[in-house]
Amino acid sequence: MSRIAYVNGRYVPHREGQVHIEDRGFQFADAVYEVCEVHDGQLVDTVRHLDRLERSLREIEMAWPVTRSALVSIMRETVTRNRVRNGLVYLQVSRGQAKRDFAFPSKAVKPTLVVTARSASKAQLADVTENGIRVITVPDIRWKRVDIKSTAMLAQVLAKQAARSAGAGEAWMVDDEGFVTEGSSSSAWIVGADGTLITRPANGSILPGVTRLAIMDYAAKNGITVEERFFTVEEAQAAREAFITAATATVTPVTQVDETVLGNGKPGSVASGLRAHFHDGLEAISVAAY
Ligand code: PLP
Repeated sequence: MSRIAYVNGRYVPHREGQVHIEDRGFQFADAVYEVCEVHDGQLVDTVRHLDRLERSLREIEMAWPVTRSALVSIMRETVTRNRVRNGLVYLQVSRGQAKRDFAFPSKAVKPTLVVTARSASKAQLADVTENGIRVITVPDIRWKRVDIKSTAMLAQVLAKQAARSAGAGEAWMVDDEGFVTEGSSSSAWIVGADGTLITRPANGSILPGVTRLAIMDYAAKNGITVEERFFTVEEAQAAREAFITAATATVTPVTQVDETVLGNGKPGSVASGLRAHFHDGLEAISVAAY
């Protein structure tokens, strides 16, 4: 089945989806995006994702490309047309097409809206559930507005490639003081000796992850303590467990940080439990019944 993309008001075959060479997303990464999980035919945590999109748009002084409810309809339609039952829906909004100039276009231009959807690899999901992933650490060399979910992600591209070249699943970025900020495309967590979940506060130095919030809700409902504080690479290497969270990864156990194997090198019970129960009680919209 060929994939279908939504591009500026039209559903088109994926290979025909195009934006202009002077689109500001292409020229300047003057664009923001969101990724929502599709789980069992349902769009997961859409309200929080769209709340974050609203914030990202506001921070870069852009208006919604379409109304919020129209965007939800487009996301659902894109998922349906691509027959995605488990996977993700990606949306990107750029400031639109205008003669190349760093400052915003003087005349308002229509934002560019692109939505795509794709199925997840079952084999890969089974593999990370069973084996977890290894993370490497790299310096966090990003700009100072990493709280905005912008498409300007060259630092994360380099970090993820470093992970891939090292045969690892993720790269944890580390600030100048030696504290882990987050993964190249995920939030970073460790588990303390008493089972406390530890993650960096969303104080402007990380992207406030939607999955991170979902874990905090789950923890609050299930009597699990969450501590939002900085942690170092050394603390992570000595931790009982570690894991990452992201819409596309839910909860993925980390079994090794750089050269240090955590515990017995297998996914820990806390991370595995969170992964198994991740979707319990989460806000979700039904999409399709195939
Ligand atoms: N941190 C970064 C830098 C990310 O790129 C992502 C996801 O893409 C996350 C954290 C996780 O965010 P979410 O849980 O909303 O997917």
